[in-house]
Amino acid sequence: MIVKRLVVGPLAANCYIVGSEQTREGMIIDPGDEARQILKKVKDLQLDIKSIMITHGHIDHIGAIKEVEEATGAEVCVHTDDAQFLQGQRVSNVFGLSYLTPPPADRLIKGGDDINVGDLQFLVLHTPGHTSGGICLLGQGVVFTGDTLFNYGVGRTDLPGGSYSQLLNSLHTKLMALPDDTIVYPGHGPETTIGAERRANPFLRG
Ligand SMILES: [Zn+2]
Ligand SMILES: [Zn+2]
Repeated sequence: MIVKRLVVGPLAANCYIVGSEQTREGMIIDPGDEARQILKKVKDLQLDIKSIMITHGHIDHIGAIKEVEEATGAEVCVHTDDAQFLQGQRVSNVFGLSYLTPPPADRLIKGGDDINVGDLQFLVLHTPGHTSGGICLLGQGVVFTGDTLFNYGVGRTDLPGGSYSQLLNSLHTKLMALPDDTIVYPGHGPETTIGAERRANPFLRG
């Protein structure tokens, strides 16, 4: 599996380009900004992008959808409960940033859905708390956690749709159920593992 991380935009969000070495098919997770840089990396990797996967609808994760979708023709996927963010009505002023209003999603997803990228398979985990439609994407030995789980941190819950009790429930029932050696690719900051977070994340201990 190819996994490349790009740090994009003023809020330093992680955009991941994920692909199959065998089929050269790929997906882009959270194209938040800097479409040109994302598309250049896709070209360098010689990937045919099939899906644009949105972990949640905050602007720092969706700001470059429009340009990336137009260039790749890929299907934009977002959880039903965060789909309204792609209409640009609820977040456009939250961070005082301007961006091209993303097109509506092509595919509304929910927990338990399978996402296929060439010969790679991913499972959608619905992990509300940071937003109500936040998801994590579980692949073979890896999980992309958006702003649900960070390296020794968790996502904030004070924005619209946020809930700390829901976030803790998502962390404990969905993510802490994964094996310790699962690599965590968060929405901001460096990668970690489920085991490292289980042992030392101050929000998860005890
Ligand atoms: Zn967020
Ligand atoms: Zn974020």
